[in-house]
Amino acid sequence: MPYLEVDNVFKSYGPIKALRGVTFNVNKGEYLCILGPTGAGKTTLLKIIAGLLKPDKGKVYLEGEDITNLPPEERGIVYMPQGYALFPHLTVWENVAYGVLTRGLPLKRAEKALKAVGLFHRRNSYPHELSGGQQQRVALARALASGSKILLLDEPLSALDLLLNIQLRYELRKYAKNLGLTVIHVTHNAEEAMSIADRLLVLNKGKIEQIGKPEDVYLHPKSAFVASFLSDVVMFRAILIKRMNDSCIFKINNLGNMLIKCSNPPDKRVLIAIRPEDIKMDLTKKHPLNTFKGIVENVEFEGIKTRVTVRINEHTFFIDLMFVERVPLRRGSQVFVHIPPDKPLIFPLHDEMKLKELISR
Ligand code: ATP
Repeated sequence: MPYLEVDNVFKSYGPIKALRGVTFNVNKGEYLCILGPTGAGKTTLLKIIAGLLKPDKGKVYLEGEDITNLPPEERGIVYMPQGYALFPHLTVWENVAYGVLTRGLPLKRAEKALKAVGLFHRRNSYPHELSGGQQQRVALARALASGSKILLLDEPLSALDLLLNIQLRYELRKYAKNLGLTVIHVTHNAEEAMSIADRLLVLNKGKIEQIGKPEDVYLHPKSAFVASFLSDVVMFRAILIKRMNDSCIFKINNLGNMLIKCSNPPDKRVLIAIRPEDIKMDLTKKHPLNTFKGIVENVEFEGIKTRVTVRINEHTFFIDLMFVERVPLRRGSQVFVHIPPDKPLIFPLHDEMKLKELISR
């Protein structure tokens, strides 16, 4: 039996349909990340699970029991909202210890949680003496120490700088796993979600686009929306001109023909997506097929990788070169871009609508 079940949940605010038939399960001890753009319905979903909002339709079950109409305080679920609220007149220690004591739990939990977020040494400070990121970590410690078996975290790491965000992702997961907590963590940061989650749920406009292990969702996105939300894919419209055994040749306007491995017969008109790390680039032409001549528009050194922007006619390619594959490049250099036939992803053309909405947000 699943631990938590969300069954066909709908929620509207007047004319705005925030959730449109959302169904998924969470297993005991699982770390689920809900990922989606702004307005996708992520917070609404958390509030319904927490009992702070009633769905218009659908049910929420906890260990098989229907909790849809149970008040929040009787659910044993802790909800940490976006923009956390600490008691301003209590110290860091008192803020974290308060919930622990009122639930009759050992104070050691507060100490462990504060150590996990790296703020035990600031236990005597007041919230106004801390930075925004530190306040967020205190709120996180309070949620972690609460003794609840289910934690609902709404953008818990969003106020942190990148380094701290990365460090705390690891700590947060470790702490949740050590305590056997079930966590639903909402974020719009794909990298954060993929690195922390056991499973990823991609929400868009109140509907689930895909749910699965991060690597499966990343490698096998079910829609162009998921592909472009998880990575800076290059996307083209293409027309199928020939199909052979397990390969297809597509024509792409202002680029040329591209051979792509295709196991299922694709539509005549499709969208083709290619991830930046799947594109090869060189100063000379090394492959007779799928190689296109372009001009380097930009080179961004990002440490372990370099992001190169190459223009080929009207198309812009983002290419990620790992440090070891570095090629001496400058803006204006002529390069050859190669697309290995097994790398592109093929989606139906109607997926384009959702992409336009994503870009226009
Ligand atoms: P964000 O990442 O920006 O926090 P979200 O994915 O959490 O977004 P929700 O906050 O759940 O999305 O909102 C979903 C939709 O419902 C949005 O269009 C939002 O404007 C709308 N909405 C949310 N709360 C209310 C409300 N109280 N009244 C009216 N509309 C609301």
